Parts: sequence; C-alpha cells; structure tokens
Amino acid sequence: MKKNILDKEKMQKIVSFCKRKWIIFPASEIYWGFANTYTYWPYGVEIKNNIKNFWWKNFVQARRDIVWIDSPILLNPKTWEASGHATWFNDALTDCRDCKSRFRADHLIENQLEWVDPEGLPFEEMTKIIHKNSLKCEKCWSENLTDVRKFSWMFEMEMWKIWESEKIFLRPETAQWIFLEFKNVLDNTRQNFPFWIAQIWKSFRNEITPWNFTFRLLEFEQMEIEYFIEEKNWEEIFEKWQNDMKNFCKNIWLSEKNFRFFEHSKEKLSHYSKRTVDIEYNFPFWGFKELTWLAYRTDFDLSQHDKFSGQELKFRNSQTNEKFIPHVIEPSFGLDRAVLAVICEAYFEKEDWSVIFKLDPKIAPVKCAILPLIKKFTPKAEEIFDMLKMDFACELDEKWSIWRRYARQDEIWTPFCVTVDFDTLGEWDEPNDAYFGTVTVRNRDNWEQVRIKIKDLKGFLVDKIK
Ligand code: ATP
Repeated sequence: MKKNILDKEKMQKIVSFCKRKWIIFPASEIYWGFANTYTYWPYGVEIKNNIKNFWWKNFVQARRDIVWIDSPILLNPKTWEASGHATWFNDALTDCRDCKSRFRADHLIENQLEWVDPEGLPFEEMTKIIHKNSLKCEKCWSENLTDVRKFSWMFEMEMWKIWESEKIFLRPETAQWIFLEFKNVLDNTRQNFPFWIAQIWKSFRNEITPWNFTFRLLEFEQMEIEYFIEEKNWEEIFEKWQNDMKNFCKNIWLSEKNFRFFEHSKEKLSHYSKRTVDIEYNFPFWGFKELTWLAYRTDFDLSQHDKFSGQELKFRNSQTNEKFIPHVIEPSFGLDRAVLAVICEAYFEKEDWSVIFKLDPKIAPVKCAILPLIKKFTPKAEEIFDMLKMDFACELDEKWSIWRRYARQDEIWTPFCVTVDFDTLGEWDEPNDAYFGTVTVRNRDNWEQVRIKIKDLKGFLVDKIK
C-alpha cells in the first residue's frame, strides 16, 4: 500500500525557489490564483523543452519503426463511450461543509488512516470510513464532511450545432487519439509491423485535490507511445520497456536511489490493463509517488473502437494472411512531473560555497553565461553571445560583481560561465600575447577554469554539452 503524507514546509521551499528563480509561477495570480494551474517562466520553459526534446530524440528520432503525429484535443465524443472513460473515469469526492473545500475521498483516507487502502472501495464503504474515523478537512480541520459522491474526471463542454448542443469532452489522456488514428497509419504509411505511434501533447483532468504544486494539474503534458504488437510477445516487450524507461530516468540525472518500480496488484488494475508498473520518484515532500507508467493495454482499446465505429481495426499478416487486432504496450511519461522531479533532484540548500549543483547540462535552462568582467568589455561579450546564440541557450549578464553573477548562474545550474577579462582584449599595460583573444571558461561542477580561444569556444561547448 502507498502512503503519501505531504510535508508542506519542504514543498514550500521548492515552490518559493521556483518562483524566485523564474521557473514556475502560480497562474492567474492577479485574481488570487486558480487551483492546480501553473505558468512556466523562462527557465521552466527551457527545462521542460529540454526534457521533451531529449525524450523525442531517444524514442522518436532514433527509431525507424515509429510514426509521430500531433492530434486535436477535441475528439468525437463517441471515443469516450468506446474507451470506457464515460463510465469508468470517475472518482469519489467529499466536501467540507464549513470551508467548502473539496477532496478526493481516497486521498483523504490514504493521508489520514495508515492502515486502510482505499483503492477500489465502494462509495458507501468510503463514507462509513470517513465518518466512523472522524476524518478531517485538510484545510480547516472540521469533521463536517459530506457523504462520498461520484464526480467525473473529464471536463465537459458544450458544442453548439444549428439548433442544439452536443456534449463534448476535453481529452483526459492522449492515448485514445492514437487508437483512432491506427487504421490511417496502417493504410497510409509503409510501416512494418510491429510499430509505434508517439505524441507529446496536453491532457485535461478535473483534479480537485489542491496543494500538489505541478504534480496534479488541471492540464498537463504527456509524452506517450502506443506500441502495437502481437499478443504472444507482450511480456518480453514489457520487460524491455521497463528497462528503457529506467534508463531514460537515469539519463535525465534522476539518481537510482530516488526512483523505484511499483507493480499494480491484479485486483486494482484499470479496466483495460493486464499489467501496469509505475516508476515512482521519491519527491522530497511526499516520498515515492507516480512519475511515469507502463501498461499492457491488451487489445481492449482497438477492439472497442472496432466495435463502436464499425471499421475493421485489424492487421493482416501478408505472409500467413492471418488477421488480428494488435495488442498494445503503453509507456506514458508525464512531462510536468518529470520537470518537477528533475528540479527536486537538482535542488540543494546551500550551507557554504562548497555545494555543487547538479543538473544534467543537456537539461540546464542556460548552457552558457557570458560575463564581461567590467562594463567596458560588454561589446566583446555581445560578439560572443551572437556567435553562440543559435546553438545554445546563452545569457549575457553584466550586473553586479563577478562573484554574484557566478552565484546566480550556479543557482540555475548553468554548466559553463565564460568571462571576458583584461587578457581577452589585451588591456594590461603589458599584455600577455598568449591570452589575447581568449576567455576563461568556468565549469560549474568542479569550479575549474580554463583559458580558451574565442574561436574554439563553440566546439568546446558542443563537446561538453551535446
Ligand atoms: P495519479 O494516480 O497520480 O492521479 P494516474 O495514474 O491517474 O496518476 P495516468 O493516467 O497513469 O495517471 O497518466 C499517465 C501519466 O500522466 C502519469 O504517470 C503522470 O506522470 C501524468 N499525470 C497524470 N495526471 C496528471 C496530473 N493531473 N497532473 C500532472 N501530470 C499528470
């Protein structure tokens, strides 16, 4: 059983750091915020894009058996009947009658009762547990909680036709669209079987539990693959994917001690899954919680869409002429949770200057800061900025002392600082010819400084970062 008690103080530190360092801000702040929505600021955008690009390079660009597409958010509402979301994508909620806060009943029970596992319990049972154990509102600590009711995780919208409206939904997962496109890919590309379809884009869920920072958002990005396979191969492919997902986590510098696999028990699997394994990350404010997931979805989704659409969603083996509905392995990465895990991993509280900051250079928001030692050297620094700007995210920083600027860059994990100094421009009374046209490059990880010719700088950074 998983228990996740939130340490609000630790979370507050990360939240304030993200604000102070232009990474993530609460959204709609001028209207006192809007729960479970956040805005990525410049460094946050860079970190997010870097993780996204790395995922894309690894799982899409590096493969030949893959098709990638960018889908609409709104799908034909029949999709959600076929997929089962209209029936199953519900949860149990309870309201506080005093302060009007709303909670997921399973989260409340999980947080306040060590010995109960609420997953899959009927609503009446959860109501009994809440009242019998005098569970409390987690905002005002009142025990005045309502009975448990059903609510849908999907956002409903109305689309107006000429005389009437139709109920449509914001998609709660990216996967369904991929299933709708399966036939098109089969008919219109020359993909050999088995193949994958990948996409990165937004999903939307009616999340009501607050105080989860970017872990539980109303809208979040998923990096998702559906791997269409023959049933007989699923176990081998599942194992391989577990390994690939683990390597991905290691390659964005999540340390192995901080993540683990969590196997869903057979009784608690989703209606479409025969096996599901999460990778959980040890978030400093909760302990281990779901970061990514890997599911064997069987042929459930394609069979349902085959039935509901009346279109045949079968693959025909050209050698044996055998036709079958493919089975599916789904590795799904939550991009926002990956960003949060990377930030938690890289965040160190400084006690003295000996702290070394830790963020993979390929994920760091700024790769290279260019620091003119004095204002007079800014034009040269600008030249260097222009030389590097199309290849690397750079920053030209000329405000405050050089030590404060180093510290500022260290805090946002910039791997290299380039200093334009007196030697660069031969500004000493007795210039050192060997140093003319060179800069110092300081490495964040060991604070070593080397002198490099400006013309060799780009090559040096390519070598170290890419
Ligand atoms: P949880 O149990 O934590 O609510 P889930 O099992 O419902 O998550 P999945 O349906 O497995 O989530 O979604 C796949 C991935 O999408 C998750 O591993 C997670 O990284 C991400 N994800 C899901 N819901 C959210 C959300 N509300 N905000 C941010 N990321 C999310």
